[in-house]
Amino acid sequence: MKAVLLPGDGRVELAERPEPSAGPGEVVVRMRASAICRSDMSLYRGTPIVGGETAGGKVVPGHEAAGDVVAIGEQVEGVAVGDRVAGYLAVGCGHCRHCTSGAWMLCAQWRCMGFDFDGGDAELFVLPAGNCLVLPPEISYLGGAVLTDMVGTQFHLQREVGVGGASTAVIFGLGPMGNAGVMVGSALGAYVVAVDPLAARRERALRLGAAAALSPEEFAERRAKNWLGEGADLAVDCSGSAEGQIGALDAVRPEADVYFVGERTETTLDPSNQIIRKLTRVRGGWYFPRWRYDELAAFAVARRLPLEDLVSGTVGLEEAAEAFRAFDARETEKVVFVS
Ligand SMILES: [Zn+2]
Ligand SMILES: [Zn+2]
Repeated sequence: MKAVLLPGDGRVELAERPEPSAGPGEVVVRMRASAICRSDMSLYRGTPIVGGETAGGKVVPGHEAAGDVVAIGEQVEGVAVGDRVAGYLAVGCGHCRHCTSGAWMLCAQWRCMGFDFDGGDAELFVLPAGNCLVLPPEISYLGGAVLTDMVGTQFHLQREVGVGGASTAVIFGLGPMGNAGVMVGSALGAYVVAVDPLAARRERALRLGAAAALSPEEFAERRAKNWLGEGADLAVDCSGSAEGQIGALDAVRPEADVYFVGERTETTLDPSNQIIRKLTRVRGGWYFPRWRYDELAAFAVARRLPLEDLVSGTVGLEEAAEAFRAFDARETEKVVFVS
């Protein structure tokens, strides 16, 4: 079978690999959609943000993938050949406190699909049966691929803080993750303000339901004139920039919630004014616990989330080199391999 490999330094190989088989408790999935994610760029450059042991193009990337179950191993329950599934990206030990609470990516022994074990950028991939998220018939493969990482992360964090019709939420950074947050917040009924320097991203946010879409300068100007009063109930930084993180802390009212989702390792904050004396609750948002999936899928169906609107284009596996190059150059927003 064909499989994409990323040996590092911006190289992309389309390799021929033996077809995988399902071991005990595993299933084989025929890939129908597998999205490229910004985190894949760490593999593309050869400096993986997770799975460092397996760097160097040994592992097939792709942690946002969906397809058809074509074979099942022994002792598989709850998944059958012919099921349409997306992959839950984290595999844990199965019995520590994080695994039993459903946050498998917090397990000390966790392994990540597309980083530690082969992911979806291939004709076939293998998943443990417990990592199969069965797709309702209303959700397409493309929708299923983007339902997990981006929409799942945003849905979980917004449900954690009870976003609803009385909420005002400000989202900084309108890449696919930020615009997934706009889509989810709008569908939950919130007044969503979307902030990004790029006009095309702001237009997408308005199509996905944002009440307002502003450049960072426009947002700062309005805030200076007391727009949103004391501040928003929730701010989410998806930009991974210092400006976005600081903007999120400054955008909320006292006793509000701020989530950092965009990856970043260093930012200078003003804790006294931004956190301590506002009693701000600052949290990290990263994927979602396994138990959240049923609610997420039901919500996506009931509210007819326009999941495919997060996708900017589709390509075949044989176009992988150009697809990764264009994505790395930020010429594309959310490209999905299809087969
Ligand atoms: Zn991702
Ligand atoms: Zn564990």
